[in-house]
Amino acid sequence: MTTVALKDVTKVFPDGTVAVDKVSLDVNDGEFMVLLGPSGCGKSTVLRMVAGLEDPTSGAVLLDGELANDLPPRERGIAMVFQDFALYPHMSVGSNIAFPLRLSGVEEGPRGERVADVASALGIGDVLGRKPSQLSGGQRQRVAMGRAIVRRPGLFLMDEPLSNLDSGLRAELRAEISGLVRELGVSTVYVTHDQAEALTMADRVAIMRKGVLQDVGTPTQVYGRPATLYVAAFLGSPRMNLLEATVYVHLDRYVTLNLGEQALYLPWDDIRARAVAHYHGERIVVGMRAEALTPVAPDTPGDVLQGRIRYLEHHGHESLAFLDIGATAIVVDELGGPATEERTAGAGRGLRRLGQVMQRLTGRATG
Ligand code: ATP
Repeated sequence: MTTVALKDVTKVFPDGTVAVDKVSLDVNDGEFMVLLGPSGCGKSTVLRMVAGLEDPTSGAVLLDGELANDLPPRERGIAMVFQDFALYPHMSVGSNIAFPLRLSGVEEGPRGERVADVASALGIGDVLGRKPSQLSGGQRQRVAMGRAIVRRPGLFLMDEPLSNLDSGLRAELRAEISGLVRELGVSTVYVTHDQAEALTMADRVAIMRKGVLQDVGTPTQVYGRPATLYVAAFLGSPRMNLLEATVYVHLDRYVTLNLGEQALYLPWDDIRARAVAHYHGERIVVGMRAEALTPVAPDTPGDVLQGRIRYLEHHGHESLAFLDIGATAIVVDELGGPATEERTAGAGRGLRRLGQVMQRLTGRATG
């Protein structure tokens, strides 16, 4: 399958808009790479440059290690799926799926077999005779996928293919698409602004902001060890707690992170202590995920932070407690089921720390 390498790729549009700014990114053989970022961050432009629909202003696009900047789209061995499925309305589902095979001169017999195989893999074998207007949104999406898959490309490029569907169907199709693509082993670049989609589907996620690549890694890596403050704040719901703290390295070899009147204590054998030690005396930002904090009773001994609950939010499967720790507001995932009035009555409850510590100075962060 096709590999992709972008080397310092930049796209400046004629009106001066820098849509993509020196992006370098590798997509490995058979990898499902998701480009994630807010609207306008340059994801689609990256995809279109890989497809050959847009020329890079500078930098190199390599396909299978070969410079492809001047390669016409049809010679790139790619198939694209967009959010507006763009099926041919006058053609049946079967003819829509068969269309790319007809263009490349595949005979009727093998063509029919391939279409039947693909349609059955996508669960649309029984609607091959219908017109697109007689299908549900989910079925139309599957037809668009079928048309992309049928030629067995070396690379899939998908631009928000699920964004026109309702949320239930989206969740169903995202598992289906990533399962199918993995089965086929085709390298994929998938663009979305939906982080749930990115984190559930991707082998690796590339997060962009204002044309600049912020972080690349597995969903666990970018969620757990975000490379920049922007990524820390962007990924996850509720948002990661970000607290300013001053680092103190104590001579008897432990580190405290002072948050106003309270402090987080890191013994020296905690790798996070060594990671922040060289910021002695400086202000850093500490990142803690809500689910990494455990509420405990106010008089619990040991390493706890004291917080005052401002309000609770029930989400069915979890409850979030919003607390003030000194002057800072944070959010905690109430483990062990929804909070009850009784459990939340002690407003000064302790909070066992500590999720992640980000070893990044506010001033140095891109956020
Ligand atoms: P969305 O999720 O909304 O599609 P995106 O992250 O895919 O956004 P792009 O479509 O790549 O973003 O656009 C990146 C930037 O480039 C935006 O500021 C956009 O307005 C701008 N842009 C895109 N196409 C052109 C064009 N042809 N001429 C000028 N500016 C453009």
